[in-house]
Amino acid sequence: MNILILGSGGREHALAWAVKQNPKCDRLIVAPGNAGMAHLAWCADLDIMDGAAVTDFAVANAVDFVIIGPEAPLAAGVSDVIRAAGIACFGPSQAAAELEASKAFTKEICDAAGAPTAAYARFTALAPAQDYVRQQGAPIVVKADGLAAGKGVIVAMTEAEALAGLEDIFGGAFGDAGAEVVIEAFLEGEEASFFVLVDGENLMPLGTAQDHKRVGDGDTGPNTGGMGAYSPAPVMTPEVVEATLAQIVRPTMAEMARRGSPYQGILFVGLMIKDGQPSLVEYNVRFGDPECQCLMMRLGGQALDVMLACAEGRLSQAQVHWADDHVMTVVMAANGYPGAYEKGSKINGLDDIAEDSKTMVFHAGTAAKDGAIVATGGRVLAVTARADSLAEARERAYKMVDTIDWPGGFCRRDIGWRAL
Ligand code: ATP
Repeated sequence: MNILILGSGGREHALAWAVKQNPKCDRLIVAPGNAGMAHLAWCADLDIMDGAAVTDFAVANAVDFVIIGPEAPLAAGVSDVIRAAGIACFGPSQAAAELEASKAFTKEICDAAGAPTAAYARFTALAPAQDYVRQQGAPIVVKADGLAAGKGVIVAMTEAEALAGLEDIFGGAFGDAGAEVVIEAFLEGEEASFFVLVDGENLMPLGTAQDHKRVGDGDTGPNTGGMGAYSPAPVMTPEVVEATLAQIVRPTMAEMARRGSPYQGILFVGLMIKDGQPSLVEYNVRFGDPECQCLMMRLGGQALDVMLACAEGRLSQAQVHWADDHVMTVVMAANGYPGAYEKGSKINGLDDIAEDSKTMVFHAGTAAKDGAIVATGGRVLAVTARADSLAEARERAYKMVDTIDWPGGFCRRDIGWRAL
């Protein structure tokens, strides 16, 4: 079958790499893709936010299955347009993508479903929001309602920080995404991510992971898109997984179906776990990046079978054969990231890395220039390794990192510290 993947990050490189291993995949197209995917797939120049353009392209190129990587096209309703043309598509409808696109919507769904999550209040004006913060005190969490690429959340340790955050958001720092604000109680505990495939009716757990959001070793410095991840996450014991499914995921999915917007795609469940009890921090409607790189390495070609079963409502008959393995991804970013970063620096040594089913360098922000690979983004490479133990996966991943000669980039040296 002919498959089209939308997106251009490390997540999409990992999806393409896994899908390509499945013999069902005849022709693979990625739009727009990046330099790392160019030898795996045709990288097509396409506006992935334009549902009609994507659909016309898919029809013209006899595409049988479209996989949507990032949240923005999902929130814009691109999957609805593709499906309306009779093409199978992996990714929720615009209505179901509200679970990521609006934090207030998610809170409302949690209330209706009885899912444990932080106590909260919603505001559309600065003064009442400030009053609420003063009344509640710190620590407290202030969130712009809409999509803000991870920057719209202020985990405030002091009242002053929370008040300043409110002024930024209502002052327009996030545009329309900040028209409404959710203020939440601060949750203590250990964070983990849980991934579940949902086909509208049936669920299939697809693994657990933990990522590192802060830029610096020891989880210090500003937040980033994610500096590394590993899977599975030890904190997600079978009991915590079962509690998450029973208390959070199943009731939410039932509530979505009851409202006439059943969920189809991968559900990323962001959790805070304290004393074995999970609370929902957030839903995302797509794979996490870099968690996806870990999951794809663990799944290999099976990823295509389960994503297709999910899109076609056949999850109840689908199966995954898991190995007892561990995967770690170390992200290499351009100097300066997550602030202003250098672009165009040359990356050497990639040819010296043997890439196979256990070691891969997934590309995020790269381009080919004059026969060399250069950095074009903030997060640039996702160096990923699989092994029988997490310690071994980490050793392999950092061995690859040390083979890469890139003075213009850096990485954290302590990915996995909590689990190890
Ligand atoms: P954006 O919408 O800007 O992309 P996001 O979707 O990443 O942001 P959240 O996942 O809700 O936003 O929050 C980001 C991070 O903030 C979480 O991963 C968690 O570390 C922290 N956080 C969020 N809510 C809470 C809370 N109630 N208590 C403690 N920490 C929290």
